[in-house]
Amino acid sequence: FVHMPHATPPAAPDRPSGGTGAPLVRLSRVNKHFGDLHVLRDIDLEVARGEVVVVIGPSGSGKSTLCRAINRLEPIDSGEILVDGVPLPAEGRALARLRADVGMVFQSFNLFAHKSVLQNVTLGPVKVRGRSAPEAREQAMRLLTRVGVADQAQKLPAQLSGGQQQRVAIARALAMEPKVMLFDEPTSALDPEMINEVLDTMVSLAKQGMTMIVVTHEMGFARKAADRVVFMADGQIVEQAAPEEFFANPRSERAKDFLGKIL
Ligand code: ADP
Ligand code: MG
Repeated sequence: FVHMPHATPPAAPDRPSGGTGAPLVRLSRVNKHFGDLHVLRDIDLEVARGEVVVVIGPSGSGKSTLCRAINRLEPIDSGEILVDGVPLPAEGRALARLRADVGMVFQSFNLFAHKSVLQNVTLGPVKVRGRSAPEAREQAMRLLTRVGVADQAQKLPAQLSGGQQQRVAIARALAMEPKVMLFDEPTSALDPEMINEVLDTMVSLAKQGMTMIVVTHEMGFARKAADRVVFMADGQIVEQAAPEEFFANPRSERAKDFLGKIL
């Protein structure tokens, strides 16, 4: 393995202040309706390389739709979404490849129930990234080790706890070597004692410089790992600020009201 000399500090991840230029994710005037319901209203959002953005807001405010739109699981009506400068194509192989640049972890773990943990992690890289099976296995074991479930590799998802399954889901997303990871309330379906093991995995990912958009009401995570908190209500970004500023001084009535209910 490559030994890092102790004298050399690890390279700092590119933070927004690092000035590396174009945002990694850019939404411009994005609108989305479900029938008469205007769920995303003129959303403008830029996420820099290495930035961790936490999205919070009341239920029904459009947070999941926003995540799904970024991954093109949900088509938008107008506006533009660029990932690393490129719009996601509408369909086909190009979509599969570019969608793999955007890793997604859902509330429900969405693992393939009839495949082993290991197969869950190797499938995408072999099919979409064109990895050889041995290569994919080696990488999967490395990632499963990183999220602390390597000893579960041969089991079926149902044999794991919820927290373990969610960590497998994170490993599976990372196996595609995404440029950005989206998390949509990744801990809200977990028993309380399992929440921290998943949050800890996410914090360490953030510290390693991964670009992340995280929908969560875990304010401890926001304080620890977020560069920015984005507050949504009724399909709009109502305000955004650094976590310490947002929690100490929410400006809008809606944000004050919301924080009053969850804190
Ligand atoms: P959040 O994740 O913030 O709770 P969502 O993005 O899930 O909000 O939903 C935003 C609004 O859009 C809600 O009113 C929800 O009921 C509605 N909605 C979400 N998905 C659909 C859908 N597929 N069809 C119709 N309405 C939907
Ligand atoms: Mg949601």
